[in-house]
Amino acid sequence: MKQRLLFLGPPGVGKGTQAELISKTHNLLHLSTGDLLRQEVKAGSQLGKQAEVLMNSGELVSDELVLSIVENKLNTQSQGWLLDGFPRNVNQAKALEDLLKKIHQPIELVVLLELRNELLIERLISRGRADDTEAVVRHRLEVYREKTAPLIDFYSNKGLLKSVNGDGSIVDIQNRIMEILS
Ligand code: AMP
Repeated sequence: MKQRLLFLGPPGVGKGTQAELISKTHNLLHLSTGDLLRQEVKAGSQLGKQAEVLMNSGELVSDELVLSIVENKLNTQSQGWLLDGFPRNVNQAKALEDLLKKIHQPIELVVLLELRNELLIERLISRGRADDTEAVVRHRLEVYREKTAPLIDFYSNKGLLKSVNGDGSIVDIQNRIMEILS
């Protein structure tokens, strides 16, 4: 069973939900940079204040800030992990590669969840989070296509990527993911 996973896919595809389920059943650390950033915002920390404006407009927060969060978590992690919402661009992916080399914990599989744009927009708007208004949602999808989607080729070229159809019920999608993990 694969122990070091990365979930990739557009906002609204169900990454967070699936990451939470799979990390529980497989006993992995679920590392969601979005969740960690929202915790910082809620706590009103300096880091949270820096991140909040960018998050609410659908932009990415700085690589430095995100990397510092991830590094702390992975350094102290001995069991497996599931990265969700990170990396978000090629620069972050390269920095992650360096970090994982240092700690001798290479990625075993990248799961790409896919769903067409109209369904993503529908799902995101119905979720009602602070950064889920229609204009911000559209912008987040553009940011995904421009900055994050290049990671599909990045990991595919390394032979690490497998795609999963993100259309269907939560259980359907979970089963599809379980199949490729074993
Ligand atoms: P998410 O919950 O993954 O959709 O993330 C919500 C927001 O947090 C994103 O729109 C970004 O502003 C920020 N964010 C989360 N993860 C990252 C990351 N790895 N790099 C930069 N910004 C991030």
